[in-house]
Amino acid sequence: MAVVILLGLVGLGVWWVIKTMGQAGQQYTQGMVRAREEGTSIKCQLNMRSVWQMLQTSATVDGAYPQSRQELEHLCGNSRLLRCPDPNGAPYVYLPPKRIDDSSVQIVLYEPNAVHNGRCSVLLSNGQLALIRPEELKAALAQPPHTSILGCPVELLPSLGSV
Ligand SMILES: [Zn+2]
Repeated sequence: MAVVILLGLVGLGVWWVIKTMGQAGQQYTQGMVRAREEGTSIKCQLNMRSVWQMLQTSATVDGAYPQSRQELEHLCGNSRLLRCPDPNGAPYVYLPPKRIDDSSVQIVLYEPNAVHNGRCSVLLSNGQLALIRPEELKAALAQPPHTSILGCPVELLPSLGSV
């Protein structure tokens, strides 16, 4: 009788250890996923920072910002800078600022896919980087002066994710 109880207790102990290890493993995996996601959002923001530096160089040297994505690609040389490093990330959308002396803050670069914890990276015309929700991005893009982007209505731009 005592043996049966003892075996039962051992069994319970084994079950408990397996259960705990399983939970720890799950937490570890979730932690890894989170770390990887944070890693790509940092890389994404670093990409945008590099693009900003190129834009500043262009503004200083040429007295103007590139006026199209094609010009920006030419300027950057490395097209990997112009897209999100996340596996689900998309190429960035460039909204050329018209003038370098324009003091109004507007979105210069953004990613259409909200892959960073449900947020999109954006670069503002004052050099600030931000991670905003798709609905905030949509609202910001709907405001003048970007009611129309490259002759294409905002609604026709790639999906901004579910709102
Ligand atoms: Zn990104």
